[in-house]
Amino acid sequence: MTVSTSMTPIRIFNTMTQRKEVFEPLRAPHIGIYVCGPTVYDLVHIGNARTFTAFDMVVRFLMFAGYEVTYIRNYTDVDDKIIQAAQRQGENPLVLAARHIEAFEEDAAGLRLLAPSMAPKVSEHMGEIIEMIRVLVDKGFAYASAGDVYFSVSSYPAYAALSKRDLSEMRAGERVAVGEQKREPLDFALWKAAKPGEPSWPSPWGEGRPGWHIECSAMSAKYLGETFDIHGGGGDLVFPHHENELAQSQATSGKPLCRYWMHCGFLDLAGAKMSKSLGNTIALREALLRTDADSLRYFFLSTHYRNPLKFSDKSLADAQARVCYFYESLQLLEELSLPPTPPEAEGEATYLDAFKAAMSDDFNTAAALAVLSELFNEVNQLGRKQNAKALAKLSILQVQAREIGRVLGLLEEVPAQWLNRRRDTLIAARELDVSHIEALLEQRQKAREERDFARADVLRKELEKVGVEVRDTPRGPEWKLV
Ligand code: AMP
Ligand code: ZN
Repeated sequence: MTVSTSMTPIRIFNTMTQRKEVFEPLRAPHIGIYVCGPTVYDLVHIGNARTFTAFDMVVRFLMFAGYEVTYIRNYTDVDDKIIQAAQRQGENPLVLAARHIEAFEEDAAGLRLLAPSMAPKVSEHMGEIIEMIRVLVDKGFAYASAGDVYFSVSSYPAYAALSKRDLSEMRAGERVAVGEQKREPLDFALWKAAKPGEPSWPSPWGEGRPGWHIECSAMSAKYLGETFDIHGGGGDLVFPHHENELAQSQATSGKPLCRYWMHCGFLDLAGAKMSKSLGNTIALREALLRTDADSLRYFFLSTHYRNPLKFSDKSLADAQARVCYFYESLQLLEELSLPPTPPEAEGEATYLDAFKAAMSDDFNTAAALAVLSELFNEVNQLGRKQNAKALAKLSILQVQAREIGRVLGLLEEVPAQWLNRRRDTLIAARELDVSHIEALLEQRQKAREERDFARADVLRKELEKVGVEVRDTPRGPEWKLV
């Protein structure tokens, strides 16, 4: 596939330069993107899911634009938090991590996150990690100290270029903690000497395990090369994680690590960021049970990826109501006998163009969803007309709706299936008596057949009281819950 020439240039907000820049990949049509993946000591929560959905959308859109994307998202399976969780639960840390990787993959599939090209694990990359640390020590950017190895921040003058932190202020505020073997407070661990009962690997500095940041430097270099296109993660990773990755990678290779840094805003719950350490998380699998993949994705995508997003049951219900409208519109399209899609009129502005323009502007999914809403509004207007011209247009709109949905990872279900499932969930939640509803529907239908429209109307009102809306279709009356 070639890069589509009809595309407006894609502009990306680069955290490094703090402005939107035209996206120019290093080796078009190939793109390398690295996204810091989960630390696998617990179930993935919807805060994490927001960040992963944002990058899923970025990858999908870049593929749609014709690029060949190599997408790397790692698993941090060696880490303090994993070791602590394993000690609490009396489990081997690597077994605990493997269990959570499996759970993550199930949940990610449930949210329709595309599988990355590669999902490398720290535990399987000790050779590459140790080699990178060795180079850093050889070059004088790192030093060994009592079985630990530290990156020397003062040896790397460009430190803090990404986070724009004031180093002298930071130095004034930091102390070397008891038990740490660093020369200076800002130095950070590349390798940690083994402690009893912890997983460890042999190294030139003795048994130990890597510090957190070095894994991403080693694995991105292995799979994407020393310089690649996009590096992403949640906003909390800018400092220290990405700052440290940047220093390690660039000190090793002498080359830029990546061309564009992208960071996703936080998902907040009740005014606080959703995080495992604060304990205010909602697991992705729980959210998928409470609602569904479309509604959750719609909720994430309805706000620009860089802005903060507040979680509430109401916002999720609003998202589901929009998705319901989309699926109903798709169902209407399926019910009409549409002609084959004609070739689009030359130069005619289409929803697809508006969608591409929105997405090319730093992945403005809020604007992209507004385009999809407009498209479905037109579907519903034209659907009432049913003349040849309207049907020809509807045929084009159906194709465009499907295409836009695919790029956003939305509307992939058969409409009737999604709508029926939602109806069943609402029936259960509202404790409705379906046989009573069906009896009323039957009486209404009978009244209509007998042309007793006054009685049919009374029955329709009665149904409305229990939240049931009746629609008369060519197949007979159909009902939905509102
Ligand atoms: P972790 O498993 O904690 O390493 O996090 C995995 C990814 O989720 C990282 O990119 C984090 O920045 C991101 N993340 C964590 N909490 C949130 C949140 N509340 N909102 C958005 N992204 C988050
Ligand atoms: Zn990382």
